[in-house]
Amino acid sequence: MTQPNRTPFVGGNWKMNTTASEAITLIDAVQSGLKGDLVEVAVYPPFVYLREIGSRCAESDILLGAQDCWHEPSGAFTGEISTTMLKDCGVTSVLTGHSERRHVIGESDELVNLKTKAAIGAGLVAVLCVGETLEQRENGQTDAVNESQIKAGLAGVGKDELGKVVIAYEPVWAIGTGKTATPDDAQDAHTKIRALVAEMYDQQAGEAMRIIYGGSMKPGNAGELMAMPDIDGGLIGGASLTAEDFLAIIDAGATQKV
Ligand code: PEP
Repeated sequence: MTQPNRTPFVGGNWKMNTTASEAITLIDAVQSGLKGDLVEVAVYPPFVYLREIGSRCAESDILLGAQDCWHEPSGAFTGEISTTMLKDCGVTSVLTGHSERRHVIGESDELVNLKTKAAIGAGLVAVLCVGETLEQRENGQTDAVNESQIKAGLAGVGKDELGKVVIAYEPVWAIGTGKTATPDDAQDAHTKIRALVAEMYDQQAGEAMRIIYGGSMKPGNAGELMAMPDIDGGLIGGASLTAEDFLAIIDAGATQKV
């Protein structure tokens, strides 16, 4: 049973997928299939579709999110998007430190921290993504990696700002691979992350932090993952591109967390 103040959160990270018309078809299907409001639902479309998708989200309870942001408010940063611009489009949350940004694009912990603080400072929710690679897991470094990414990502973030943070534990080896952490392994990582937040801030902060799981979450495994006491939802990549699958995952969250 989840804590009352940890409303389950399910986010759909569309990554660099969909055409404009596919994006509209997808959001319309998600919107029309959504039942109830037990789960906070957000979608993270490509930047160029934010306005269009945002105008549809505005007609429902679906929150609009962005896959990334830049940490400076404006200026000579060719190709980048500021939090002010995102807010103009109706964005309410931003992914920071997604594994593809860390490991494909090469973002450092320091940059992830700047983006996290910029998002929070702008009044957005920062979904701070952390997780170990396969090699790190095999070397027994899972907890150390999570700890260092969370400590670095939240450096300078005050306790009073934690309501604007969701932590996504996303083992890199499970993202887009079809391999999922077992519910027990994911629960173990989440418990340790919650204890770390409690150690960094205090017990109440640890208990209140929403910690979601990401990594090949699908309709077939979402229920057992979200049934774990410290898993407060999911960040969904591939399965969020099919309305039926994404809706089934949201339903699983609602069922597990009542
Ligand atoms: C993700 O992109 O955060 C993710 C978890 O992707 P997938 O569900 O495809 O593994």
